[in-house]
Amino acid sequence: MAKAEDKGGRVSSQAPANKPEKGRSNTPGPAEKERRGPEDGSSESGRRPSGSSARAQPGGGDGNRRRRGSRGGRSRQGPPGSVPRADDAGQNDDSGGSAGQDAGRRGPGTPATEAGKDRNPELPERSIEGRPKSREAAEAALVRRKPKIGDTMPAPSSPQPPVKRRRRRKGAGGGGEARPVEAVLADEEPLELDEKTLRRRRGRQRKGKAVGRYLMCVHVRPEATQIAVLEGRALVEHYVSRPADDISQIYGNIYLGRVQNVLPGMEAAFVDIATPKNAVLYQGDVQYDREDIDEGSEPRIEEVLKPRQMIMCQVTKNPIAHKGARLTQEVSLPGRFVVLVPHSRTYGISKRLPDEERRRLRSVLDKCKPAEHGIIVRTAAENVTEEEITRDVVRLLKQWEQIEALAGSQRRPGLLYREPDMAVRVIREEFNKDYRGVIIDETGLYDDVRDYVAGISPALADRIQFYDREKEELPLFERYHVHQQLQKALDRKVWLPSGGSLVVEHTEALTVIDVNTGKNVGSSSLEETVFRNNLEAAVEIARQLRLRDIGGIIVIDFVDMEIKENRDEVIRVFRDALGRDKTRAQVFNISELGLVEMTRKRIGEGLLESLSEPCEACDGRGVTIHEELLG
Ligand SMILES: [Zn+2]
Repeated sequence: MAKAEDKGGRVSSQAPANKPEKGRSNTPGPAEKERRGPEDGSSESGRRPSGSSARAQPGGGDGNRRRRGSRGGRSRQGPPGSVPRADDAGQNDDSGGSAGQDAGRRGPGTPATEAGKDRNPELPERSIEGRPKSREAAEAALVRRKPKIGDTMPAPSSPQPPVKRRRRRKGAGGGGEARPVEAVLADEEPLELDEKTLRRRRGRQRKGKAVGRYLMCVHVRPEATQIAVLEGRALVEHYVSRPADDISQIYGNIYLGRVQNVLPGMEAAFVDIATPKNAVLYQGDVQYDREDIDEGSEPRIEEVLKPRQMIMCQVTKNPIAHKGARLTQEVSLPGRFVVLVPHSRTYGISKRLPDEERRRLRSVLDKCKPAEHGIIVRTAAENVTEEEITRDVVRLLKQWEQIEALAGSQRRPGLLYREPDMAVRVIREEFNKDYRGVIIDETGLYDDVRDYVAGISPALADRIQFYDREKEELPLFERYHVHQQLQKALDRKVWLPSGGSLVVEHTEALTVIDVNTGKNVGSSSLEETVFRNNLEAAVEIARQLRLRDIGGIIVIDFVDMEIKENRDEVIRVFRDALGRDKTRAQVFNISELGLVEMTRKRIGEGLLESLSEPCEACDGRGVTIHEELLG
């Protein structure tokens, strides 16, 4: 019986206690780490300020036998001679694998009879997309993240919970349904910290001014909130969120879903989560009870999920363009210091922490960890007091109990738990004393964020500043040259300091970056010139990938170098530069043709996608056709 099988009309959120892929050790394996993200900085994602991360397939080695499911859409033709047919959308049809191939797309000759009912989008990317075949190769290619920002975070708890400022949608189903659970961000009782602890956590100051490498600028407009992270004066990260968006920005939200149709051929199921488009649950993200399944390794998806079955699930990937949201049945709740994994045996403490600190945290957790739930301790828990951690656990437990109760009382698909607004999530995950400030140009959001930080990190509350648009001469993003830098980050071409350049091209399957040398070849040898140019390119590419939030497979064509040591050095510098990026990346060695293949984890939609629309004139092709020669 599956995790949340319909039991007499009620949903059980009880996950099986014997999840097969869960380890008991406190040292999560690679797949575990990638899935969890938060406890391991190297797998945290920039565009994903929430705590849980897209889940890896358990036992990475099984990737080979899986087909690539993500691009079953636009570009794929039906089998020769196949008859155009209506989509299976909305039907409870679990027959035949071909359904998946047609899902979410409508061929030119397809009758649009069910246009209104077509809720099945294209399949989102699976986590095996762009994964190396062997675990050894993956391990060798993984870029080790430098332990720095965000690794340690300050204190929790607040006098009062932040005011709900945003215009939230009412319960997803509308019409008198219960409201979804909101994150419990703070306690009723403020936490008392002694003066010594407070002092240790206060950031550095110089002449009364906060000092820190990073600055966060939050610019609010009616149509969107944007967050720019500056390192020094250089823009390094950028986030966009549309207000009260319960449709496209749903990462981390928990839903009660109804299985619409199961597609055995795609090893996936479409799930109605009361959003305009159905979401997708892949076989590897399905939970099931070992005892209910016959002998054999992994059950097939159609054995575990049936149409109309109600399941509790969490979004691990936002819907992007034509692709549906991706779901997992393994729910987790991120807090400031720990992640609660309900009804699981997971018990993880970041390997990033020193042994002694891990021992201390384990003894703290042994006291406050609920027996029936799993816990992952985040790196931010380092040096945090026992009381602070216990409070975090209690807050998450309270949250989970509310979610479970709500799930039990619902009979229709709908939102159960909503992650907080983007600004609060980014602060929860990122803000620490390396930030000299967070500048916000809207009063309501400023009040919320200041309250929140005063609660979780009182020593840093004065770093939250209000930017009064009425009084300031320039808009916030002009003042810090953010707009200017964003414009540049949208260009295809990027100039390098010595006259060389990069050209960034996006294709459906991957991103290609071409490195060019400048015209001015200096006095030294050609090899030396090329080497210098490639070194500059390596650093700039790392910066651009992060700023542009480019994910998936990336192929870089460095200028050819003859000397092996030079090639190795370019890769070394490149990996080193990528270490600043908290998003997970893997870089492989230069191929015979001088290409570097790499992957970077994708969570968000990318800078270009978030700030642009495809051109209508050329349909994204970038050329206009000489129609007169074709008529
Ligand atoms: Zn165009």
